[in-house]
Amino acid sequence: MHNKTLAELSTALQDKEFSSEELTRHYLDRIQQHDPSINSFITVTEDLAIAQAQAADQQIASGNAGTLTGIPLAQKDIFCTNGVKTSCASLMLDNFIAPYDATVVEKINDAGMVMLGKTNMDEFAMGSTTESSYYGDAKNPWDLERVPGGSSGGSAAAVAAQLTPVATGTDTGGSIRQPAALCGITGIKPTYGTVSRYGMIAFASSLDQGGPMTRTAEDAAMMLNVMTGFDEKDATSIERDSEDYTRSLNNKLDGLTIGLPKEYFSDDLDSDIANVIDTAIKEVEKLGASIKEISLPNTRLSIPAYYVIAPAECSSNLSRMDGVRFGYRCEDPKDLYDLYARSRGEAFGEEVKRRIMIGTYALSAGYYDAYYLKAQQIRRLISDDFKKAFLDVDVIMGPTSPSTAFKFGELSEDNDPVSMYLADIYTISVNLAGLPGMSIPAGLVKGLPVGLQLIGNYFQEAKLLNIAHQFQQATDHHQQTPDSFQEGK
Ligand code: GLN
Repeated sequence: MHNKTLAELSTALQDKEFSSEELTRHYLDRIQQHDPSINSFITVTEDLAIAQAQAADQQIASGNAGTLTGIPLAQKDIFCTNGVKTSCASLMLDNFIAPYDATVVEKINDAGMVMLGKTNMDEFAMGSTTESSYYGDAKNPWDLERVPGGSSGGSAAAVAAQLTPVATGTDTGGSIRQPAALCGITGIKPTYGTVSRYGMIAFASSLDQGGPMTRTAEDAAMMLNVMTGFDEKDATSIERDSEDYTRSLNNKLDGLTIGLPKEYFSDDLDSDIANVIDTAIKEVEKLGASIKEISLPNTRLSIPAYYVIAPAECSSNLSRMDGVRFGYRCEDPKDLYDLYARSRGEAFGEEVKRRIMIGTYALSAGYYDAYYLKAQQIRRLISDDFKKAFLDVDVIMGPTSPSTAFKFGELSEDNDPVSMYLADIYTISVNLAGLPGMSIPAGLVKGLPVGLQLIGNYFQEAKLLNIAHQFQQATDHHQQTPDSFQEGK
C-alpha cells in the first residue's frame, strides 16, 4: 500500500481495493514500527485518524467522495490543529493545544483526508537540519547518522520512509525544498500569497509559505488543488481564480527555455552534485526544452539580506509568546519582568534566541536604516534579477542544496551558525522574491539523494509541475527509497 502515489491510492479507495481505515491502520503500524529510528513525528493522532478514516469510508460508500477522501497525511507541527497539540517543536508551545484549525488544515480536512499526526521540525522553523527541535533530532532515512534537512525535516523524513504518502511543510528560506532534496522526495513552495498563512505559526511573515511534500509531482499538484485559494483571514492571501494544478502535467516540453544561473554552478558546488544536476538538465533537454545561461548577480547578497529580514520579523512575531496568554510560564515569577524574561529565557532554544536578538537589534532606533532598510533594498535588487531573467526564460533550474545530507553536528547552529546559513544559498532568494520553487529527486551521490530545483515566475506552479512530471515520467529517481524502510523489513 505504501508504495502507491496519491493518484493510485485514490483509485484503489474508490475501487474498494482496501478501505481508508485499512490504509490508515497500515500507516499507523508503519509509524509505530519505524518512527522510533527516525523521530519524524512529534505527535501521532491515532484515535483521530481512525475516526476520520471511518468517516471517509462512509463518504466513499455513499458515493460523495472527493479525489483525496480517505488518504492519510501528516501535518507539520507548525499548523494549528484544533484540539491537538501544536508545538512548533518548542518547549514554549509544548503545552499548547490549538483552539482552531489553520486554513490549510481546514481545507485538507474538508477534502476528507486523514491526519496521522504532527511532524518534527526545527524550533519555530528556524534551521536547516531539524537539530533545533525540542523533541530531538529527526533522522534522514537514507542514513540515520545524517540530518534530514530542515526546517520541515520531520515531514521529509516521514514521506521518504513511507510513513505517510504526503506531508505538509512550510518554506521561509528553503524549508520545503532543502529537506525534500536531502531526503529524495518532491516538494513545492508556491508563490507567496497562494496558500493561506492563517493558523500557520508565523516565523517571518513576508517570506513564509506552506506547501506539500510528496513522492511525485502529480501528487504535489493534487495537494495544491486542495491547499491553495484566497482566504480573507490572511491579509496577504491573493485573490485570484482557482486553478487546476494538474491541468498541464502532460504537456510536452517543446519550446520551453530553461535558464541556468551561472552563480548556481560556481566552484562552490560539489562536483558530484554538479554532475547529477547536469545529467538531469540534459534529460529535460531531451524532452524538448532548450537551455540558456543566465545571471542572477545578486544571489550572494540573499543570505545577508535574509538574515536581517527573517530575524527582524521573527523578533516581532515571537513577542506574543510572553508567558502570559498561552504557552510556557516559568515557576514562581517575582514580578512581571521576571515572568517575561524567565518564561522566554527558559522556553526558547539557542537558535530562536539568537534570531530574536539579531532582529531586535536590526529594528532598533538608529540601526533600522543601516540594516533593515538596506536589506529591503537588496531584496528589491534580487527580485529585479529574477524579473529580468524571466524575460528570456520560462523556468530557472539548478541545484536545491550545495551538498547532500550532512552528518549531525557538522553544520550545527551552535558551533558555527553562519556555515549553516550558507547552506541555503540556492533557495533563499526565491522567498525574498516571493516566487514559486520546487525540488525533485535527481539522483544519488554516494547513496544520498540530490535535489534539482525548479524556479518559476509568479503563479507558474503548473509549469513547474508539468516539467517535474515529464521528468518523472522519463526517469525513476523519485521511485528510489531507502532500503531499510522497504516492505518486509
Ligand atoms: N534554513 C533557513 C532558516 O534557518 C530557512 C528556514 C525555513 O525556510 N523555515 O531560516
